[in-house]
Formats: sequence, C-alpha cells, structure tokens
Amino acid sequence: MDDTIGIGDLDRMIRSAADKIRANRDELSKMDSAIGDGDHGTTIARAMGIAEKVMDESEKSDLKGLLKEVGWGVMGVDGGATGPLLGSFLMGLGKGLGEQETIDCPTLAAMFEDGLAGVRRQSKAQIGDKTMMDALLPAVHAMRQAADKGKSIKEALKKAAEAAENGATSTKEFRARFGRAKNLGDRTIGFQDPGATSIALIFQGFVESLE
Ligand code: ADP
Ligand code: MG
Repeated sequence: MDDTIGIGDLDRMIRSAADKIRANRDELSKMDSAIGDGDHGTTIARAMGIAEKVMDESEKSDLKGLLKEVGWGVMGVDGGATGPLLGSFLMGLGKGLGEQETIDCPTLAAMFEDGLAGVRRQSKAQIGDKTMMDALLPAVHAMRQAADKGKSIKEALKKAAEAAENGATSTKEFRARFGRAKNLGDRTIGFQDPGATSIALIFQGFVESLE
C-alpha cells in the first residue's frame, strides 16, 4: 500500500493543529498564568494563525519551500519564547527535503528529527526541565521508533501524539529550569507546562487531520 502524504496533507495537518490550539487557547493562557505571564494561549494561537496565513498566500508548490516560508513567518511572531521555538521547528521540518512531492513514514520521522534539531539550536532545555521539550522529544522519538518498525504514517503519528501527551502530563512533577517559569522555582511543581501542552495539542491536531 502506498502510504505517503503530499503538500495538501501537510497543509491540512498544520491547519488542524491550528484549530486544536485555538480551541484550547484560553486554557493554555490560564496554564501560563499559573507559572508565567498568562499569554501563551494567545501567542501560540497567533503563531498558528500566521502559519495558516502564510499557507493561504504562498505561491510555493514544493514542500521544502512552503515549510521554509511557514517557519520563517512563525519565527517572527512577537510575544516571547514561543515564536522562535515553534518557528525553528517548522522551518527545520523541510530542511533535509529535496524536491520530492511525497513523504513516507521514515521521511516524516526524519523531518521531525530535523525540526527538533532546529529547536535544540534555540534551547538547551532537556527532558525534565518543564518546557516544550518534555513533549517534543518523546514525540519525535516515538515517531522514529514507529517508522523503524514499519508502521503507517497514521499509526506513527498516533504514537507520537500519545508520547507528547504523556510528556506534557509529566511536566506537572517538574520544577521549571527555563523561561519565565524558572523564576518561580519550586512553586511551579504541580502545574502542567503550557508549552509542552501546546506541542501535545499540535500532534493531536496532526493525527486528527488524517482521520
Ligand atoms: P513567554 O514565556 O515568553 O511568555 P509563552 O508564554 O508563549 O512565552 O511560552 C511559554 C512556554 O515556552 C513555556 O511553557 C515553555 O514550554 C516554553 N519555553 C520557554 N522557554 C523555553 C526554552 N528555553 N526552551 C524550551 N521551551 C521554552
Ligand atoms: Mg508567557
């Protein structure tokens, strides 16, 4: 069976992730109020809105070119940590691509690894530091494992979304070591990290776009 996705599917994945973020915008800002400055939902919803606008207006018909434009647009979102981190992820996704018009599961896994490498250039956060990384790292790892086992794109994305969700939940136990929340130290324990929660929602959005 031909298990690949093309530019139209990728477009739908990103829009579905944006829908998921918008549906949870207020909740995400509320989470940020507990350990930050209360703007995360607004900022990430704006970032995803820019991704959609870039896709609406782009004349690029190749995956690599489109992802570069989307990533660049999101990177420029004002409002703190989110724009550069999410923008680098999106921009990184296309980095290793050539001129291919379709992506299979191993290629999608490699794209996520490139996206993660982009985030790592911006942030030294590791697992347990209570950041987006707590969701992103396990998601990318799960995607790779599923791809190596020969799973379908949909199955692999489901595994990635599950891993991101578990990672986001795990942040409740951690003390923040990066970003604004760092200033609150031990007082961040017990609260779930909004950025990690957004990553889990984005992966959930990806999955739902294929359903
Ligand atoms: P800001 O903290 O600048 O107001 P947001 O509220 O939009 O930005 O985003 C906060 C989220 O950003 C946090 O919940 C955390 O997940 C993520 N974050 C902040 N700093 C870092 C960092 N250095 N590395 C990874 N993620 C980070
Ligand atoms: Mg904030």
